[in-house]
Amino acid sequence: MAETILYVVVPCYKEEEVLPETATRLKEKLAALIASKEISAASKILFVNDGSSDRTWDIISQLHSTNPIFAGINLSRNRGHQNALLAGLMVAKDHADVSISMDADLQDDIDAIDAMLAEYRAGNDIVYAVRSKREKDTFIKRRTAMAFYKFMRLIGVEIVPNHADYRLMTRRALEGLACFKEVNLFLRGIVPMIGYKTATVTYERALRFAGQTKYPLKKMLAFAIEGITSLSIRPIRIISFIGLASFVASLILLIYFLIDYAQGNTTAGWASTIVSIWAIGGLQLLATGIIGEYIGKIYLEVKQRPRYIIQDTLIREEKNDA
Ligand code: UDP
Ligand code: MG
Repeated sequence: MAETILYVVVPCYKEEEVLPETATRLKEKLAALIASKEISAASKILFVNDGSSDRTWDIISQLHSTNPIFAGINLSRNRGHQNALLAGLMVAKDHADVSISMDADLQDDIDAIDAMLAEYRAGNDIVYAVRSKREKDTFIKRRTAMAFYKFMRLIGVEIVPNHADYRLMTRRALEGLACFKEVNLFLRGIVPMIGYKTATVTYERALRFAGQTKYPLKKMLAFAIEGITSLSIRPIRIISFIGLASFVASLILLIYFLIDYAQGNTTAGWASTIVSIWAIGGLQLLATGIIGEYIGKIYLEVKQRPRYIIQDTLIREEKNDA
């Protein structure tokens, strides 16, 4: 197994506060794995700078010049976590046998790498690292995440609960991923579609080591909508059903009122009329909005814009002296 080249892919957006510590810890981990002949000495830690405005790229370049175990790619601008991760994985695909993606803030337990590599050796192409507990998250984040997973299952999207983007993928799994050309990227939903033999390992997620979260509620909400609309068309179907049901209901009501009228009763239902006008109006607006969401998606997909542009690449192919 000493021939297995591992690339650890770490997207970084304004992570100057955590990066030196993350680099040190990852280097120690890889050095130990190289020493015990678990992985090749050509393995690397690949940092992806996602257009940070702080010193993140300077730190990455510095790390690279002091030790070739550190590699870096610099995106031309901020493209968001998912695109940055994809950029790193696509670079890793051309150099490595296996990749492991993780966040820069040390929230993902680095020691889970051993268990992931063990699953790789057992013949798995994709290994998901799953969080055992979420007690360190804020109450809101925990509840929204749970509701999200439930909803996703309801609309028929297969995702691994409590799995962020901490996962191992072999080269052929990455080649599979490269075939998915969608611009609206939700990796957690796409990766299960690749197939191959998969496994999960569990770990405890720590608090962010330093710095601020780059996922405030607004971004989380946008991410959730992205996940839903880029993976499922069931909401559109639900709308059609609601539409059909209310149409049938109104027909039944109409017949009822006609009979009532023929019997000489005048309906005094002013309130109910107003209520139904609002209800139907609201439903229609909602329906239009959701349909618009999908049309927006189609608009973005047909343009086939690049998902990221790599400005600089720092990878030294030689063996490390870690
Ligand atoms: N990130 C990125 N681009 C962005 C936002 C975040 O590359 O536009 C990276 C960030 O540096 C981190 C990872 O994505 O390595 C996850 O972000 P964060 O830890 O802020 O999210 P949280 O763990 O709070 O969900
Ligand atoms: Mg984090």
